[in-house]
Amino acid sequence: MKLCRFDNDRLGIVEGDEVLDVSDALDAIPPARWPFPVGDPLIIHLERVLARALYMASSAPRRPLAGVQLHAPVANPSKIIGAPINYREHVEEARRDPGISHGREIKTIGDWGLFLKATSSLIGPSEPVRVRFPDRRNDHEIELALVIGKRGTRIPRARALEHVCGYAIGLDMTVRGPELPSFRKSIDTYSVLGPWLVTSGEIANPNDLELSLAVNGKIRQRASTRSLDYDCERLIEFASRFYTLHPGDVIMTGTPDGVGPVQPGDVIVAEVAGVGRMEVRVVADSSEPASPRGV
Ligand code: MN
Repeated sequence: MKLCRFDNDRLGIVEGDEVLDVSDALDAIPPARWPFPVGDPLIIHLERVLARALYMASSAPRRPLAGVQLHAPVANPSKIIGAPINYREHVEEARRDPGISHGREIKTIGDWGLFLKATSSLIGPSEPVRVRFPDRRNDHEIELALVIGKRGTRIPRARALEHVCGYAIGLDMTVRGPELPSFRKSIDTYSVLGPWLVTSGEIANPNDLELSLAVNGKIRQRASTRSLDYDCERLIEFASRFYTLHPGDVIMTGTPDGVGPVQPGDVIVAEVAGVGRMEVRVVADSSEPASPRGV
């Protein structure tokens, strides 16, 4: 099933070029009081919501997909985890290009570990990426995104995919520079998740998905998750050795080669086979004319 969040607070099932409005299924989420449980309430109660949504689907109002605003399918992840240098060809391009490496020695994901992106950076495809520092290099990175459905810590590889409730396309937008990745990749709007959540049962093998990204109609990135260094199971095992994973947590699995800059006015089209396709605009963030000096 393709589950989307649209028009701010609506829940939909995507079927072809239509959205079935199943927002009333959200009533399956029990009311909660402070202190709220960690994790996204929709994902915590996803099974119940999906059961009700399926029951409602045949009589649900239908809207044309092209006429709705699509938001990040997970509204409130407790964390967004990033995987650096997780495709060999991207490791090689990062070593070749000082505009990517900025003097850092490019090692392996095992040496570097993972990083976190601020949840305040999250948007869906209907919102534009706002370039905050136009005088610096702002790159696109397409990634398969895993959405965690079940809390877990020290998850063994053999059980890893049981903790995934679905998949989405992730854009790990990045300002290049000397700062630590968590800082450079956490700018508002620099984490795009969409266009919807494809429930895990629809993806037979997340380590065998073609992905591609084009800017203004020109293909920049094209690869398969077969080329991941740490595959999806290993990323979950690795992440959960350090962090408890909560329902709604997002793991962006890393980007293949072909990363490159975008500018205001550009249109990014990102596609992951079996998941979907999304178009994301890039605009200037006029509130910040230039990067701060001395940072
Ligand atoms: Mn990345």
